[in-house]
Amino acid sequence: MSRGEEKLSWEGEILSVQPRIRLLRSFDERSHSYLGYVLRIRGSLAGENREFAVAVGKGAHEKHRFRAGGTVSGMGVLVGDPRRETADLYRVSRVRMLSRGVGSDGTPPPYAGIPPALEEYRERGHRRLATITYRSKCSTCLWGCEMAVEIIVDHWNPTNKRYRKETFCYGPKNCPFYRAGPTRKVPGRRGMTWEEEDWIDGEETAHRGLDE
Ligand code: SF4
Repeated sequence: MSRGEEKLSWEGEILSVQPRIRLLRSFDERSHSYLGYVLRIRGSLAGENREFAVAVGKGAHEKHRFRAGGTVSGMGVLVGDPRRETADLYRVSRVRMLSRGVGSDGTPPPYAGIPPALEEYRERGHRRLATITYRSKCSTCLWGCEMAVEIIVDHWNPTNKRYRKETFCYGPKNCPFYRAGPTRKVPGRRGMTWEEEDWIDGEETAHRGLDE
C-alpha cells in the first residue's frame, strides 16, 4: 500500500459542515456534481494536532446528521489530487459521533445547524460569493460552499484543463453578510474569455424570495 492510500485516523470538533460540490466549466457551460459534505475539523490527524477537512458521503450525513459543535472520529485517505477537492481526506470509514454538541445559540448569519439534503442545495441554486467574504464571514455557514472547479479550456482537446477554487452562497438573498465580489471569468480556446455576468445568478435564484 502506498503512503497515499494509507488509512489515517482522525478525530476532533466539527467547526463547520458544508456541501461538497464539484463544478465543471467549459466556457459558458457548467455542471455540478453533488458529492456529499465537507467537515472542517479541529483536532488530530494521524496524531498531529491541526485543522483539516474531511469529505463524507451523503449516506454518512443522513446517518450521523453532522453539525458544528459535535465531535467525531474516523479513518480516511489523503486526497489523491488536491486540485479536484476542497478536503484533505476522503474515502472515509469507521465514522463515530463522540458527542452531538449543543448547537449554536447565536443569531444568524452565519447559519448554524444540520445542513439539508444535497437535493435542497440543487433546488435552491447559488450566487457567487466573494472569496474574501467567504473566508472572513461564511466559512462556518451551512449555506456557504467552496467548490473545486475543473475547467475544460478547449473542448476539442479535453485534456487541456485548469483547476481553481470558487466560493458560492446558497443562502437567503437578503443576508447582510453577502458580497458578490468580482465576476468570474472562464478561459476558452485561442485566448478567449467568457464572463459569468450578474444576470446568471439572478436567473439561478429567481424562484426564491429575498428572505428564503
Ligand atoms: S452570505 Fe451566504 S454563506 Fe455567507 S453567511 Fe450569508 S447566507 Fe451564509
